[in-house]
Formats: sequence, structure tokens, C-alpha cells
Amino acid sequence: MPVKSTNARSDFDAIEQLLRSLGFEHVPGTLPELVERGVRESLPLLAFLELVARSEYDFREERRVKTSLKLSGLPVGKTMDTYDFAFQRGLNKATIDLLTTCEFAQRKENVLLLGPPGVGKTHLAAGLAVKCVQNGFSTVFMTADELIDGLRKDDQAGGRRAHRRRYMTCAVLVIDELGFQTLERREAQLFFRLINGRYEKGSTVITSNKGVREWPDLLAGDEVLATAILDRLLHHCHVVNIDGRSYRLRQIEKRVSR
Ligand code: ADP
Ligand code: MG
Repeated sequence: MPVKSTNARSDFDAIEQLLRSLGFEHVPGTLPELVERGVRESLPLLAFLELVARSEYDFREERRVKTSLKLSGLPVGKTMDTYDFAFQRGLNKATIDLLTTCEFAQRKENVLLLGPPGVGKTHLAAGLAVKCVQNGFSTVFMTADELIDGLRKDDQAGGRRAHRRRYMTCAVLVIDELGFQTLERREAQLFFRLINGRYEKGSTVITSNKGVREWPDLLAGDEVLATAILDRLLHHCHVVNIDGRSYRLRQIEKRVSR
């Protein structure tokens, strides 16, 4: 195929320009290669059309996922692929596999990952969040401290802003490490407002080292508020209890047992 002859080149230029004006971003720069491939592999017209469309789609998807991951606040490298299920034998992998399909996000259900420090709650929550991003759900990952701080600031600024905040509007909100710090009364009220606002509108994934029975203490000692929060959280919720060993301590355990 004489792709680089002068005539062919100017034909390409015209088509590339047309594609650009139609909003194509990737195909215009790679059209000669795509056509060469089509000729080399004797692709039927429909297959060639699919090759062109897929090339543009894959490029945009890759860029979308990259940008969304950057904006999501997710820790780097914590994915489902790097989680060692063999180490955490008590964990029901089937439950996690079901969650990684992201159907929970589609149905606006919540996820609670509970257990002692080091068992991989944050890692799993981050891994799930990556899957959610890849599946096109707007996803935000925040530590509980960052979230409470944000809620407080928005409250002080008049409260209205909170409705438009990403933590309120995103499809999937991950709140990591709820329970390290006891919330004050106002903070617990703001937290209720958030959970209530997201109820059946989006998914909330929470990791905590405190079982739900301890939540009233965590939420300013207010039983009524804690019940109201748990009522909404647990209505459509996957609760994952991880009672295993700490991954952080495994190296030390190894050294000690030598
Ligand atoms: P938690 O949030 O339960 O305290 P983390 O998710 O922060 O625990 O895990 C502690 C560290 O150990 C992290 O670096 C995490 O990536 C790693 N980790 C925990 N469990 C596993 C596992 N099963 N496979 C691989 N890495 C793990
Ligand atoms: Mg953690």
C-alpha cells in the first residue's frame, strides 16, 4: 500500500482533519498505520471500521482511567492483583470476587470492611475503588480524618457547599480508617448528614477497626445518632469481617520464629 506517496498523504491529511473536527483525538495521528494493518491483514470493511473505533475508544478509556485514578486520592499500588488471598485465609474470596464486579456500585449498595490493624482493609478498599474507576464510576478515596476535616470546613462556610462536594455526589465514596478518632457531636451530626445524603444515591465503602457495636462510642457517644447512621448504612450493605493476622507483622513473626 503506497501510504506515503504524495497523493495518498494528502488524502490522509484531509481525512485526518475531518476526523479531528469530528472530535477524534487518537485515530488522526495513527491513521496510516491503521490502514496499513487493515491492508496487511485483509480486514473486511466492518472489521476495519471496528479497528478504528476501538483504537479511539481504548485511547480515551486509558486516559480517563489514568486521570480518574489521579483525582480519586487513591493510594498507589493497592490493587486486587497485589492482594495475597492465600495469606488471609479466613477471608471469603467469593465475597470479594463478587464485590470486584462492581455490581454493588451499580446498585448503590455499601461495603463495610471490618477487622484489626494490618489485615488489609485499606488495601482491599483501594483495590475495589480501582475497579470502580475502571468500570466508569466516579470514585473518591478519603481517610476519615480528611473527610471529617472537609465536612467541618464546609459546615463553617455555611453548610450549603456540602451538597455539591465530591464526597456527596460521587458514585463511590471510600472512607478509610473510621474509628481511630472519636468524633465530636457536631462532627457526628455532619457525618449523619453525609450518610443520609448518600443513602440509596451512591455507594459508601468504609474501613474500620471498630465493630458496629462500638460505633456509638465512636460517634460522640450518641446512641440515637449512631443507630440512625447504621440504619442507613446497613440497609443495603455487604459486611466483610477480616479476623486474620496482620500482614504488617508477618515479617516480624517470621524473624521471631526463626
Ligand atoms: P489495614 O487497613 O487493615 O490496617 P492495610 O491494608 O493498610 O491494613 O495493610 C497493611 C500493609 O500490608 C499494606 O502495605 C498492604 O498493602 C499490605 N497487605 C495487607 N494484607 C495484604 C495481603 N493479604 N496481601 C498483600 N499485601 C497486604
Ligand atoms: Mg487501614
